[in-house]
Amino acid sequence: GSEAGRDFIRDIVAADLESGKHKSVVTRFPPEPNGYLHLGHAKSICLNFGVAAEFGGRCNLRFDDTNPTKEEQEYIDAIQRDVRWLGFEWGEGNLHFASDYFEQLYDWAVHLIRAGKAYVDDQSPEEMRIARGTLTEPGKNSPFRDRSVEENLDLFARMRAGEFPNGARVLRAKIDMAAGNINLRDPVIYRILHAHHPRTGEAWKIYPSYDFAHGQSDAIEHVTHSICTLEFEDHRPLYDWCLDNLPVPSRPHQYEFARLNMTYTLLSKRVLTELVRGGHVTGWDDPRMPTLAGLQRRGIPAEALREFIKRIGVAKANSTVDLSMFDFAVRETLNRTAPRRMAVLRPLKVVIENYPEGQVEQLEAVNHPDDAALGTRQIPFSRELYIEHEDFMEDPPKKFFRMAPGREVRLRYGFFITCKDVVKNDKGEVVELRCTYDPETRGGNAPDGRKVKATIHWVSASHAVPAEVRVYEQLFATPTPEASNFAEQINPNSLEVLDGAMLEPALASDNYDGAMQFERQGYFCRDKDSAPGKPVFNRTVGLRDSYAK
Ligand code: ATP
Ligand code: MG
Ligand code: MG
Repeated sequence: GSEAGRDFIRDIVAADLESGKHKSVVTRFPPEPNGYLHLGHAKSICLNFGVAAEFGGRCNLRFDDTNPTKEEQEYIDAIQRDVRWLGFEWGEGNLHFASDYFEQLYDWAVHLIRAGKAYVDDQSPEEMRIARGTLTEPGKNSPFRDRSVEENLDLFARMRAGEFPNGARVLRAKIDMAAGNINLRDPVIYRILHAHHPRTGEAWKIYPSYDFAHGQSDAIEHVTHSICTLEFEDHRPLYDWCLDNLPVPSRPHQYEFARLNMTYTLLSKRVLTELVRGGHVTGWDDPRMPTLAGLQRRGIPAEALREFIKRIGVAKANSTVDLSMFDFAVRETLNRTAPRRMAVLRPLKVVIENYPEGQVEQLEAVNHPDDAALGTRQIPFSRELYIEHEDFMEDPPKKFFRMAPGREVRLRYGFFITCKDVVKNDKGEVVELRCTYDPETRGGNAPDGRKVKATIHWVSASHAVPAEVRVYEQLFATPTPEASNFAEQINPNSLEVLDGAMLEPALASDNYDGAMQFERQGYFCRDKDSAPGKPVFNRTVGLRDSYAK
């Protein structure tokens, strides 16, 4: 029942502003700096920053840096870069770190102890796990549950001081070991961790749990709508319990939406980390990775990503989006914006026997068929050319209309040429075509009105720029990869390196850094591995899907 562009989150925000419950909306995007951002995070970023912008509020970028063993400065920097690349800005004063609140969170833990609502537990992790019970069985109270406030205060202070080793003790909220919601069975709110923290260094020997840090951080920042994914629905009662039992400066509320899942893709930082560490990909920004850094390197425009996320919408039930929907949004954006070029990925030499040796002429080509503002360029034509190997067949089946012995085709922006002879090597492979051209067909039409059935792309051999082209397919071979044994499901053909591609000369001097359309082939962008005289291009996306639906 929502109007266009609305969803249940936006409906809630609109209603809260209308009723006066909140004067303005404050959201936050709360990444843990333990990896790079991926497509799933993009959904959360677009939602949190989008809602704030649409309703005239603010969105904080808050690093949820409460687990120092997995967190690194590299990730903190990458996350900020990637949020900006996606097109969002948190603004001055709106960059925060949960670690900035460690002192306050500690005080609030002491507050709970004083109120008899938290205790230090000396059970081993295993004993605690068993005593927690199951969905059908209530848990059992810890033998340490009734420690005195004084003893708890003393032990907690000594935990902070670093007197005990990792895992020796924890601080637990005293809620209800029989609660139906297992998250309420005296959850751990502080644990001992002797570890270096990227921001606080060695200052802390204890760290708050996610559940003890998140809502309170929201409250400190006066977040009004704390939007997270559905797996935290079960944590909401604990989120509320903390806020209801502490003297927090504001009262945020948590709302859950469905996370993004996509076919042929795994959106989990754990899996992505293992792909990198295990050498299955070249790094976090490998163009096959669903990370924002990988998508950027592959030439995906941020605009296409935002458009895709707008189209999939925000729902309350989990589902899986088809990868083809993402590719469709990318093609749609690039078809509208990408300059056209010609590049031959697998070259086959063509010699035009009736074209004078040493002669060169320039042909004019439009840079975009529907956007005259992108202008035109000159393409050199000469006696020796390259065409795409797959555009020739010696013995073509009925439906193959491209080059074949005796057949005439059109060279894009050029002339009609006719194949007169085929040259083979001693293995019998076709290595060259001997052709003639019709000088009357310059620009692509015959004055006598005769037609050809195919137009193919080409480059002039002596002017062509040799390049490496990396053709990517989806990283996983199966539409529904499983995280548990992801390595076995990797697509063995996810990368094909074409080392002898030949590009039209404009591609050597272009400094366009978005993706361009290589006519009839797809969209490609220059890779950072390019060297002077040896460009490397990544295929962003083909012109149509190659994977099964
Ligand atoms: P992962 O499951 O990949 O480890 P995470 O949830 O642990 O991700 P965080 O850095 O904690 O990663 O996530 C920051 C925010 O992004 C959270 O609010 C989280 O709910 C959201 N988020 C993470 N993955 C997705 C997803 N697939 N779809 C939508 N939002 C997501
Ligand atoms: Mg998380
Ligand atoms: Mg995680």
